[in-house]
Amino acid sequence: MCPFEFFRPKTLAEALELLERGVPLAGGTALTPRRGEKPAVIDLRELGLDNLEIQASTILIGAGLNLQKMVDAVHILPVALREVCIREAGWNLRNMATLGGTIMSSDGRSPLLTVLLALGAKALIEPGGNTVPLVELLQQREGAGFHRLITTIQLMKPLTLVYEQISRTPADRPIVCAAVAHFFEDDAGDLFQVALGGFGSRPIRVEGAESILEHGRDIDAAVEACRKVYAKAGDAWASAEYRSHTAGVLVRRLLTELLS
Ligand SMILES: Cc1cc2nc3c(=O)[nH]c(=O)nc-3n(C[C@H](O)[C@H](O)[C@H](O)COP(=O)(O)OP(=O)(O)OC[C@H]3O[C@@H](n4cnc5c(N)ncnc54)[C@H](O)[C@@H]3O)c2cc1C
Repeated sequence: MCPFEFFRPKTLAEALELLERGVPLAGGTALTPRRGEKPAVIDLRELGLDNLEIQASTILIGAGLNLQKMVDAVHILPVALREVCIREAGWNLRNMATLGGTIMSSDGRSPLLTVLLALGAKALIEPGGNTVPLVELLQQREGAGFHRLITTIQLMKPLTLVYEQISRTPADRPIVCAAVAHFFEDDAGDLFQVALGGFGSRPIRVEGAESILEHGRDIDAAVEACRKVYAKAGDAWASAEYRSHTAGVLVRRLLTELLS
């Protein structure tokens, strides 16, 4: 193993300066096994990034909040969001793994990323203080040299949030999963956000299904839009035909529950 430097900054400004020298260390559950590859790590634990706050129509979650604290946030976070934190990792891991670390390291089979997409998650990124939609962040993180820090995740507060998955066993990671969130917007009417996961390097939003739902709530057409986006989603876990069909079944089930 190569020697590496360890820093534990006490302020955000200090952490941002150190970002040129190394990578953020949150719960360490994904990073620690790869520590020999990194010249330096910047431990985020003293930056106080573990807040959880509800505002009128948004939920703000510090990137350093661990997944078990999200599970424990009864009456604050939607039930389906807390349930996918349980699906994401076992109890030991949940007590260490953070929301920010999970966003940066999980792939398309992540129940939590799928639900975050349906909730229209945005990440507050430093330096710069920009707010970046999760859809974009999941693409950017795959490029080389993402030397930035996520400080806060912002979610839209849903009227209803529903999630379903198919996996080999109840505790396994999904082969296909789907999440639908329903929001009410005063001037724009209803808003739906649909995400599919279980495949590839990241879950995806199905904007075709969302606009169908917003313009007439046609469940058959929305299901077809979801089936289409997974029409070529074959891998070692499932054929594209199976995944596309199952995505349709799950989304139909969720929409029937949500719109009934
Ligand atoms: C036994 C075991 C089983 C696991 N099983 C799975 C699994 O089935 N599926 C799976 O997807 N993962 C799995 N993991 C990986 C890991 O647990 C998760 O991905 C975890 O959610 C990472 O969170 P963390 O806080 O520990 O991140 P860390 O390990 O601290 O960091 C992960 C990455 O995110 C970056 N990062 C962390 N916080 C920030 C931030 N605020 N801003 C910018 N970058 C940041 C780090 O630099 C690093 O690149 C497993 C790990 C273990 C130990």
